[in-house]
Amino acid sequence: MNIVVQKYGGSSIGSTEKIKKVADKIIRTKKAGKDVVVIVSAMGKNTDELVNLAKSISGKPDPREMDVLLTTGEQVSISLLSMALIEKGYKAISFTGSQLNIQTTSSHQKARIMDIDVTKVTEALKEGKIVVVAGFQGVTEDNDFTTLGRGGSDTSAVALAAKLEGTCEIYTDVDGIYAMDPRRLKNAKKIPRISYDEMMEMASNGAGVMHYRAVELAHKYDIPLYVASTFSDEPGTIIDNGGGKTMEEAVVTGMASSLEDIQITVLNLPSPTKSLYRLFGQLGEKGINVDMISQMLTEDNLMHVSFTAPKDDLWLVEKVLREWQQQDPTIQWEINEDIAKISAVGLGMRSHAGVAAKVFELMSDNNIEVKMVTTSEIRITWVVVREKEQQVIDLIGHHFGLEMSL
Ligand code: ASP
Ligand code: MG
Repeated sequence: MNIVVQKYGGSSIGSTEKIKKVADKIIRTKKAGKDVVVIVSAMGKNTDELVNLAKSISGKPDPREMDVLLTTGEQVSISLLSMALIEKGYKAISFTGSQLNIQTTSSHQKARIMDIDVTKVTEALKEGKIVVVAGFQGVTEDNDFTTLGRGGSDTSAVALAAKLEGTCEIYTDVDGIYAMDPRRLKNAKKIPRISYDEMMEMASNGAGVMHYRAVELAHKYDIPLYVASTFSDEPGTIIDNGGGKTMEEAVVTGMASSLEDIQITVLNLPSPTKSLYRLFGQLGEKGINVDMISQMLTEDNLMHVSFTAPKDDLWLVEKVLREWQQQDPTIQWEINEDIAKISAVGLGMRSHAGVAAKVFELMSDNNIEVKMVTTSEIRITWVVVREKEQQVIDLIGHHFGLEMSL
C-alpha cells in the first residue's frame, strides 16, 4: 500500500466551510493514487472552550472526566469531515481513539501511546475508503478515555504513520518551519529542510509549530515529516535525518524564544553539594522540569543557586522550598518572572566553534546582561531580561542570517 497520513490542525478545520475545503484537498491526494489516512484535531478553539467549561464547574476537574470531555472535540471533527468526503462522492469512515484501540498509558491529559491496532484502518483502506481518525486521544487497558497533552494530535499522526509504514504530512496555518516565528522576526527565512535534532531543540525551547513528542517519535521511527500550509500550495518544510547541503551552510539554522519560564534563586545554602542533591532531588520527585542551573559560592562558603522552571510549576517549587524553610529558616529565595529564554539552534555548531562567543559579544556590545546559559551540542540558550527579548531576536536573526535576503 502507498499510505499517506495527513494531519489537519484545529485552525484548518475551524468551520464547516474549511472542513469542505480540507475534504477537497484530501480528495486530490486520493485521486493521485494514495491511500489516505487523515488525523484531525478539534475544530478551531474547541478544546480551549471545553477546558473553560470544565473550569467553570471545578477548579480542579477530575482527570478521568476531563478526558471524557476533551475527547468529544475530535469526535465532532472526524464525523463532520467524513460526512463532507461522503457528500463529495467518496467512501470515508471515521474512528475514535477507542474504536481503533489506540492503547495509551493511564496518565490522564498526558498519556503516551503504547500501541495502535491498525487492522480496521487497513481493512477500510482496502475497501477504498478514506480513513479519518481522531487525534489527541487514546484509551487505557481498562477502556478509559485518555488524551495525549495539548497539541497531541501531531503525535497521533506520527504514531499512525509509523504503524502503517506510511509518510506523514502535517497541515497547519503556517506554510512551514521558519528560522524564527515571523511574527517575532520580520522577514524570517523559511527553512526548506531541517533535521529532527534541530527541530526537537527548537520545539522544546519555544518554537510553537511542531509538537516536541511528535518530532521525537518521527525521529525514533525515521518517518520524514512534511509541514505545510493547509490552504496554499507553497512548498513547506521537510523534517528528516538531514544530511542536505543546505543545512551545512548555516551555523545557526533557527532560533526560538520562550517567555514561559521563571528564574528562581535560592540563597545562602549550606554544604553546597548536599544542598544541590537535596534541592534538585525534591524538585525532580515532584516532576518539576528544571532546565537551566547556575550556582555561585559566597565568601562564607554558602551557595546561591539559580534555576529556571516552567511558570506553571512555580507553586510546586515554592511548596518544596517552604517545606525546606520549615526545617531551616535561614533558607530564602527570590523569584524572577521577568525573563526571556532565547535559544539559537544549528547542526553547524558541531563543526563551528565560536557561536557562543559571538552571542556573548553581541550581548556585551549592546549592554544586555546574560543571566544564565546552557548549551547542548547544537544549541545555546541564554536568559535575558524580558524587555530586551525583541532586541535580542533582531540581533541574532540579523547576525546569523536568519532573515530573507530581499
Ligand atoms: N485539540 C487538541 C488541542 O487543542 C489537540 C491538538 O490540537 O493537537 O490541544
Ligand atoms: Mg496543534
